[in-house]
Amino acid sequence: MSRQVSSLLAIAAVCVTLAPAPAFAAAPKKAPVDCKQVKCVALTFDDGPGQYAGTLLDTLKKYNAKATFFLEGQYVKSRPAFVKRMVAEGHELGNHSYTHPDFTKKEIWDIRAEVKKTQDEVKKAAGVEPKLMRPPYGLTNLPISDVATEFGMPIILWTAGSEDWASKNVEKIKKQTMAVAKQDSIILMHDWVKQTVDAMPSIIQSLQKKGYHLVTVSEVIKHEELKPGDAFPVPEGWSNK
Ligand SMILES: [Zn+2]
Repeated sequence: MSRQVSSLLAIAAVCVTLAPAPAFAAAPKKAPVDCKQVKCVALTFDDGPGQYAGTLLDTLKKYNAKATFFLEGQYVKSRPAFVKRMVAEGHELGNHSYTHPDFTKKEIWDIRAEVKKTQDEVKKAAGVEPKLMRPPYGLTNLPISDVATEFGMPIILWTAGSEDWASKNVEKIKKQTMAVAKQDSIILMHDWVKQTVDAMPSIIQSLQKKGYHLVTVSEVIKHEELKPGDAFPVPEGWSNK
């Protein structure tokens, strides 16, 4: 073997060795779900990543269910590994502010700073930026919509709640969730509520038994043609530009 060829081979070997191993196995590729053809529900988890997010992610993986996480930047900073795992396992991320203030009581530059800090933390944790925004308490107004427009994000609210934070009861959370789950529902839940995470295997199995596909918010809103700054579902008294 010539000296030149062997040194080229040595360089090739180094390149192969230096290629970073993926931190998580890629999620198996599946044909995308079309929510016009099949029944879809989007489960959404706010204020996290919460302390039970790891258990929740295990459950979602076990039942091949996808979810959307509206994250608080302060917890993205303290629990970045969960955020990385969410992305690796095919879930969707949304921006839910940095410290959860009522945006309707804030000046636009404060709103902008909260949103930006969270985008930056998510980028640092998982290498991607959220493309959806859910303002704290689901409250929105024109300045909030303007900030969402600046960041290229629609505002995603919810069609129904699991009322998990109020009941903190496994049976009630399941009963409420099953009662409100309909075609293309966007359901509000929280991964800091232990009882929600405990109820999830049973909720997912029941929804799947009823023929629902558990998908991300983007799958459910795919045909809505939302523009940045638009709100969905449209709140009472609000009209998208
Ligand atoms: Zn919240």
